[in-house]
Amino acid sequence: MPEAIRAVRGMNDILPDESGLWEFFDDTIRTWLAGYGYRNLRTPIVEQTDLFVRSIGEVTDIVEKEMYSFIDQLNGENLTLRPEGTASCVRAVIEHNLLYSGPQRLYYSGPMFRHERPQKGRYRQFHQVGVEALGFPGPDIDAELIIMCARLWRLLDIPDVRLEISTLGSIESRLVYRTRLISYLEKFYDELDEDARRRLKTNPLRILDSKNPAMREILEGAPHLFDDLDEDSLIHFDALQRILRNQGISFEINHRLVRGLDYYNRTVFEWVTDKLGAQGTICAGGRYDGLIAQIGGKPAPACGFAMGIERILSLIRETDAAEIHTVPDVYVVHQGDIAAGFSWKVAESLRDEGFKVVLHSGGGSFKAQMKKADASGARFAAIIGDDEAATGQVSIKSLREAAEQVKIDLTKVTVFLGNI
Ligand code: ATP
Ligand code: MG
Repeated sequence: MPEAIRAVRGMNDILPDESGLWEFFDDTIRTWLAGYGYRNLRTPIVEQTDLFVRSIGEVTDIVEKEMYSFIDQLNGENLTLRPEGTASCVRAVIEHNLLYSGPQRLYYSGPMFRHERPQKGRYRQFHQVGVEALGFPGPDIDAELIIMCARLWRLLDIPDVRLEISTLGSIESRLVYRTRLISYLEKFYDELDEDARRRLKTNPLRILDSKNPAMREILEGAPHLFDDLDEDSLIHFDALQRILRNQGISFEINHRLVRGLDYYNRTVFEWVTDKLGAQGTICAGGRYDGLIAQIGGKPAPACGFAMGIERILSLIRETDAAEIHTVPDVYVVHQGDIAAGFSWKVAESLRDEGFKVVLHSGGGSFKAQMKKADASGARFAAIIGDDEAATGQVSIKSLREAAEQVKIDLTKVTVFLGNI
């Protein structure tokens, strides 16, 4: 026998026992997003590699080592499986001139690809929901994005998610800070790890995001970006905090918060839980006023976030909301040729009325079929023998409660089931 083929490392199947939870999540976010006026945008999974290089930034984990890039064998184009959704969203908005008709509230949901070391909460194919508000300059929209996250945690019954916020200021103020940070870190050059040394010249702010404990210790004494902030960014940040306080959203200011992607300015935020170990960030976002122009659009402000669905679902799984199964209402068992023909009619009539129906397939005795009916979790079995078929009737047996089995006309079955 040939060796069985397995899924690619770090890329997971979502099996039927688990997909109910995913569908519950999809349903929940759909109503949640509609409640705030965000509309769905669906973009291709493959994009020109340049899109990500130009938007995410060359000296980032993603672009340096995590992208699935390949040359299209047919036309030589350099393509990449999307590692995140903001770049594609902004590309599509520019390409279709969506901002022409005013600011846009958009969201996307789907798989993203990053070549990372797989571990709990970190996969090579993972899923994100991303929400982007394009064309809005004010801090009210930053607040809206944060407030809607807080509502989602309530809807999903996820407790104890901490909000951390900060501001990166303007691109100009960041340059001033960059010089100060470099001179501080140069004093520790001998103790810096390889990554940090490389980034010292190219992208020193990213060192602040280092997960290496030795680096974290050095960073304790590093100067604060906060001291170099421009006036307008400070006003923006104050206004955001005021709205959050008025809306009863608690937060901590974390001066070390630098997002992994280059395109952020002003507001950055993360929602973090202590329940997932090192992979505790379930949602991250911020403002990226420069990105649209950076990838060729007419300059416009923007703000957004993305959440990791796998991480969120592993939190829901631990709460009671995990009791989500898709079970049929009725399992139809049948024996005999005439009964088999009639069973189609029964199943389809029930489906016409909105019942979830499994029609038995594969033959077997009534007893064996009833075992399958029971195992399906259905509330009722519809039993059809040739007698029933001959008179256009169906025997209904409750599988979950002690009740008499009753024989009724097919025409009355849906009313009968609907009344129980
Ligand atoms: P991290 O620091 O954990 O690598 P990141 O800064 O690279 O995160 P973002 O690009 O901001 O992550 O993505 C937003 C969210 O998507 C993260 O907060 C996380 O919940 C989720 N996420 C990111 N990478 C992965 C992954 N490889 N597997 C599962 N979820 C992920
Ligand atoms: Mg990462």
